[in-house]
Amino acid sequence: MTDASLAPLRPMPDDWQRALAVVAHPDDLEYGCSAAVAAWVAEGRQITYVLATRGEAGIDTLTPERAGPLREAEQRAAAAAVGVPAVEFLDHRDGVIEYGVALRRDIAAAVRRHRPELVLTLNHRDTWAGSAWNTPDHVAVGRAVLDAAADAGNRWIFPELAEQGLRPWDGVRWVAVANSPTPSHAVSAEAGFEQAVQSLLRHRAYLEALTDEDPETYVRRFLADSTRLHSARFTGGRAVAFELFSR
Ligand SMILES: [Zn+2]
Repeated sequence: MTDASLAPLRPMPDDWQRALAVVAHPDDLEYGCSAAVAAWVAEGRQITYVLATRGEAGIDTLTPERAGPLREAEQRAAAAAVGVPAVEFLDHRDGVIEYGVALRRDIAAAVRRHRPELVLTLNHRDTWAGSAWNTPDHVAVGRAVLDAAADAGNRWIFPELAEQGLRPWDGVRWVAVANSPTPSHAVSAEAGFEQAVQSLLRHRAYLEALTDEDPETYVRRFLADSTRLHSARFTGGRAVAFELFSR
């Protein structure tokens, strides 16, 4: 069998203790991989969330001034639901995040602060599985995360970070990209599934604006479908798949 889209997914590495998840918006991790996060936290690992924006442009019926604080609060509750105590915001502008040196520097600073072995992010590819076009914010942040994982270890790229007391950290061993159209690895979503449901449900204002359906019905169906997508290539059970980049 030579078709990579049918090849078995390999198990995610488990010889690590600290992970940092860096994404563009509130809800990206809850749609993407929170069942995996819940299971990892339950195993005693430390995971911190960093969001490039507060998702202030994400609710059509609310102005950014009202949506930003609301979505920040929902994101903190969503993180707490999977046992993640800390959420940081980089305050880039929702919808128009620019890939570039400023974004790489902010993410490299976060990597140096938290010194993770594993970095998680969301799909940076042009499309999702199938042909649905990705958003520019996800592409910008995902690419910058892949770059900043290396930037963080080079003392000469952002010397101003060392002046702020952030020493280089060259210890990122992997960057794992959730919801990639070309996943290579996976982890079971069975143990963390219920917490993942509760976590995505914390984005209640967002969900109520998104759909007329009962939020819990919508969330359960979405996560049931997405964690079954790659089952046949893994253990047959629910799974969260990642495209894994080793360093
Ligand atoms: Zn997003």
